[in-house]
Amino acid sequence: MENCIFCKIANREIPCYKIYEDDLVLAFLDINPVVSGHVLVIPKKHFESIFEADEEYLERIIVVAKKISLKMKEALGVEGVNLYQANGSIAGQTVFHFHLHVLPRTAGDSVDFFKWMGKITKNFGKEEFEETRSKLTIN
Ligand SMILES: [Zn+2]
Repeated sequence: MENCIFCKIANREIPCYKIYEDDLVLAFLDINPVVSGHVLVIPKKHFESIFEADEEYLERIIVVAKKISLKMKEALGVEGVNLYQANGSIAGQTVFHFHLHVLPRTAGDSVDFFKWMGKITKNFGKEEFEETRSKLTIN
């Protein structure tokens, strides 16, 4: 879809810190992370939200989220993960291409979902993104 940032990432018009890709989905580091290792999983086909998404893509997305979660445990030593997904403005969706957030969690990481909704995110440099990507890449 034209003017959709996630379609542009899926089509390689915009670069991303990719950690996983298959025929249906793409996973990459969120450029506005709330914590180091914050990942987004998107369908490579444009669906605005869960209301329109094909089940085949939704199934794959949750399976890939599990792979990423296991990778986070192994590579980052995290104690847990949050999966977060919003549908519609009222629910806090800001990019209208379905996406699932995978957030690695550790004690004292200061992730606050209410602050996050107020858009308080971390400012990481390219080096930190590259290092995190190399730790989380799934081949
Ligand atoms: Zn799109």
